[in-house]
Amino acid sequence: MSKGERLIWFKGNIVPVESAKINVLSPSSQFGANVFEGLRAYWNVYEKQLYVFRLLEHVNRLQDSIKMAGFETVFTNAFLQQSVIDIIRANNFQEDLICRQTVFLDGFGSWSATGPVEMFIAPMAKGRYYEKLQGINVCISSWERINEKSLSPKIKMGANYMNSRMGQLEAVHNGYDSAIFLNREGTVSEGPGSCVFIVRGGILITPPLTASILDSITRYTVIDIARNELGLAVIERDIEKGELYGANEVFMCGTAVEIVPVFSIDRVQIGYGTEGEVTSNIKNLYLQIVRGKVEKYEKWLTPVYAD
Ligand code: PMP
Repeated sequence: MSKGERLIWFKGNIVPVESAKINVLSPSSQFGANVFEGLRAYWNVYEKQLYVFRLLEHVNRLQDSIKMAGFETVFTNAFLQQSVIDIIRANNFQEDLICRQTVFLDGFGSWSATGPVEMFIAPMAKGRYYEKLQGINVCISSWERINEKSLSPKIKMGANYMNSRMGQLEAVHNGYDSAIFLNREGTVSEGPGSCVFIVRGGILITPPLTASILDSITRYTVIDIARNELGLAVIERDIEKGELYGANEVFMCGTAVEIVPVFSIDRVQIGYGTEGEVTSNIKNLYLQIVRGKVEKYEKWLTPVYAD
């Protein structure tokens, strides 16, 4: 499909991407007053089926963001889910996708407007992140992660991503692939668009929800499969910077990045500087589950082309 033919869900209609235009004076355009989800859908070539991963959980989090950002509630959960399916079907995609579902403030209001609330959904055929990299080299950001005293990291709001932007730009400028933020307390928070796990002595450790992190769906998925399928002990607790450097393995996770090993932090090599065994086991299982290859976890998949 050529770029020109790509269709987008926009304010209740399915239209070519080029005709989906918003007002430059909208609170979304001016102030980042939008909340969104990044979803993935995986193509299963044998079943000729596209599976959206954990659609319900994404829609639930979107509703939480709408509420916390003070937007008027105009969409039902069922509508939010069905619209994602509708737009992927309309494009007739038969490949892995990333899908951006954004609820935004339209019109001419100020940053304190609560409506009119509109939505767009844009599926994009997109390969792996860090595709050419087996793992990433990151730094500890000099920027602090936003926190509950200023801008809640639990709201997946466009404006919050300017904090992510600062961290990512600094990291790339200094020759790293990405960054890990510390929070106000000085303990490990998360990456610009992903959560952090470390492995120490065979135990998986990840910062708690109170560490200024997004309520990540992949984080729950990793905790679940590590405990229940790989028999690993998983602890949610604060992690100090020094523990990061000394970890046997470190990996980042998120819908877009999936599971990506961290080879070094601030140029300090982690473990053997390669993908560790625990990371590898989790990654392989994750990639099978999302594609519909593990029956037990089909409950997390929504088929796009089923009637
Ligand atoms: N933290 C941040 C800041 C993110 O943007 C993301 C990506 N949505 C994540 C963590 C991972 O969240 P999820 O697993 O739900 O994609």
